[in-house]
Amino acid sequence: MDRGSFPDRRRLGSLIEQERAAFQSANPRSHRLHEEGRRSLIGGVPMPWMTEWAGDVPLYFSEARGDRITDVDGHTYIDFGLGDTGAMPGHSPGATVDAVIDRIKARGGITTMMPSEDAPVVGAELARRFGLPYWQFTLSATDANRFALRMCRQIQQRPYVLVFNWCYHGSVDETVAALGRDGRVIPRPGSVGPQVDPVATTRVAEFNDLDRVRHLLADRQVAAVLTEPALTNVGIVLPQPGFLDGLTEACRRTGTLLVIDETHTISAGPGGCTAAWGLEPDVVTVGKWLGGGVPIGAYGVSQRVADALAADETGDYEDWGGIGGTLAGNPLSLAAARATLHDVLTEAAFSDMIARATRFTEGVEAVIDQARLGWCVVQLGCRAEYHFCPSPPRTGSQAGAVIDDDLDRYMHLFAMNRGLLMTPFHNMALMCPETTDGDVDRHTEIFAEAVEQLFG
Ligand code: PMP
Repeated sequence: MDRGSFPDRRRLGSLIEQERAAFQSANPRSHRLHEEGRRSLIGGVPMPWMTEWAGDVPLYFSEARGDRITDVDGHTYIDFGLGDTGAMPGHSPGATVDAVIDRIKARGGITTMMPSEDAPVVGAELARRFGLPYWQFTLSATDANRFALRMCRQIQQRPYVLVFNWCYHGSVDETVAALGRDGRVIPRPGSVGPQVDPVATTRVAEFNDLDRVRHLLADRQVAAVLTEPALTNVGIVLPQPGFLDGLTEACRRTGTLLVIDETHTISAGPGGCTAAWGLEPDVVTVGKWLGGGVPIGAYGVSQRVADALAADETGDYEDWGGIGGTLAGNPLSLAAARATLHDVLTEAAFSDMIARATRFTEGVEAVIDQARLGWCVVQLGCRAEYHFCPSPPRTGSQAGAVIDDDLDRYMHLFAMNRGLLMTPFHNMALMCPETTDGDVDRHTEIFAEAVEQLFG
């Protein structure tokens, strides 16, 4: 695959220094708070990935509403990161906030170990959107994936799962795996622990490599394939025509369950890619966006999987068996999910958000064309991301090969210093219901300025 356009390294280094200095002088309170944080927090942060923000310290925020975030130094940003999809419904969406207040203040009850009346309503709405009849809830997408894989292995009585190289499905042991240079499975470099050797649990193929998938499923030892319908965690890698049909067909032929993770690809529409592309998975997992920012994940299963779970007499699903979460299915999360589904992430909201992302994509494309850059931008519904290569990657490895940490850092810092936030780990932009054409056009301007600085 062609290398893209990369700036002169010396020039990039000095541009990064300029932006770092500007960031430092504009954000004294964030720096002070980070110093204070270092005294009590491991690495000075509530979560390790928060060190990934492009400034030398993370921005500390004070307010967030719609697609705007205000930091503790008083700067207001257009937020295209939107909590890496956790805030895709916008920050603190009105209907979700009202439902949360009603639940916890007017009626009371944050966690009770009992179902609330919102639970069947949310289950029914997810069933309508994704076409799978039965659902249960977790606190995160990670747990939804973890439990989905356990259940698949239990009812299938097969040892392996298959995932794609450069996938991300949360901190689920079986999925923190990669293809080594010789094509064998290895723990993903840097994996912490490390977990049980994934050679014992996991097979890995390149996304879009149907022949390899068929080969790896042929001995019927794989309980389930877990995949996003398009990879979204190494930039966006779209499925090639026929790949998902071929994958579904290979799963059916070998009795392998297909688990589709719609945590990010919900960007494609109200029922994610599953509905938009007419997919027929056995299991769907979701999280992040569902509660409008309040923690909740969910997994949905087909009638066949539900029947197999009901018929299984050996698995201890209720007690010690490894499916759990005392706070999962709590009334606060479910009230938030009900409101978010019914009043925030509606059909109409998606069609506006997708139109904004199309405008974003066209704006970025125009800048790339005008500068004759070997970069490209890929859109998936209300999500768009640029890659530093001339045409969209077809596999995780191709996408991984063009990651450029310095260039990423520069693009993020440049945008941040001009009032615009992109997702820390990506060059990804997400639209929420409040994102306007003006916000998108501001991004295009800033992107053009950054390109001019780098290559002009
Ligand atoms: N699935 C996908 C596709 C993800 O990208 C992520 C996180 N980025 C997860 C699952 C896990 O989500 P969480 O960290 O909220 O559990």
